[in-house]
Amino acid sequence: MDHRTGHSPARAKNTYHSTARQAPPRSQPVPPVCPVPPPRSPRTGRARPQAASSYRQYAARRRRGSALRRLMYLMAAVLLAGAVFLVLNGPELLLPGAAEPESQAAAAPADPAGTEPTGFVVAVDPGHGGGDPGTEGPYFNEDEMTWETAELLMDLLEADGRFAPFLTTDGTEYERPSQRAANAVAGGAQLLLSIHGNSGDDPNYAGFECYPVPPGRTYNAESLAFAQMIADRFGQTGERLRGENGVRYIYYDANNEKQIFEVSDTTVHSDPTFTLLEECGCPAVLAEQCFITSPEDVAAFGDEAGRQAAAQIYYETICEWYETYVEAADSDALT
Ligand SMILES: [Zn+2]
Repeated sequence: MDHRTGHSPARAKNTYHSTARQAPPRSQPVPPVCPVPPPRSPRTGRARPQAASSYRQYAARRRRGSALRRLMYLMAAVLLAGAVFLVLNGPELLLPGAAEPESQAAAAPADPAGTEPTGFVVAVDPGHGGGDPGTEGPYFNEDEMTWETAELLMDLLEADGRFAPFLTTDGTEYERPSQRAANAVAGGAQLLLSIHGNSGDDPNYAGFECYPVPPGRTYNAESLAFAQMIADRFGQTGERLRGENGVRYIYYDANNEKQIFEVSDTTVHSDPTFTLLEECGCPAVLAEQCFITSPEDVAAFGDEAGRQAAAQIYYETICEWYETYVEAADSDALT
């Protein structure tokens, strides 16, 4: 450090007057500055034009070039991230209010890309839950059996590959049958199965029964066929079928009393049947899987193994119904 100027003595070396940078006299041959041959274009083999004094310019161009490339990569990444965000959130952004409430979103098939679900849409209604236990039985409550059976059925339908199943409720809070029907409609249900358990004061009350959409309604024929297929399969296991063959129609009269008719009675009644069947907008059956008050019924279709057996029957029946009404219709349309 120079104590007078405060400058470092080294600064003097960088002045234009440094002898090291003076050009040699013109009369002497100039030795090559750089023994490395100029870079050649890999495509043409020609030497790339290069200004003699311009390594610094060349390096600056390289720096500008790589800064430009980094900027382009950054812009591409930002555009890609934006595109992914739009694909995931587009429907909600474009249609405010299109997003379903959380409880329904969990029940409806995931459809973030705005495409139709792939597969035949089956709504599985677990009957009770969300704080509603259904009938409180001596071995377990109805909702325990219906939920476990519904979830086992969901697993079977999902594994099949031809179906897009969903639950009509996520079970976090009680949803009335009318709300579960609305969830089924919102999810695009093409077939609905509602799972329940029966109960009686006498433990000898036992057997399987199910209720299709009744006569005079849209989807009666398809629902009746579905119900008969389910009852047949339960009957094949040796389970007692209630009524004529395990299929019945139910209505609620003006006093809200249940009126039950056997399947052979095709009288059209104006009284409402189960709300879920009235309002789900597709072929539908409500099944009373077994009497949860009957030890024999519980052993057959209510305990852990019984729930699996019932889920298997429902699954096989849905396959049979689907093959009869959907695949057959599709192949007819092709011929
Ligand atoms: Zn029930």
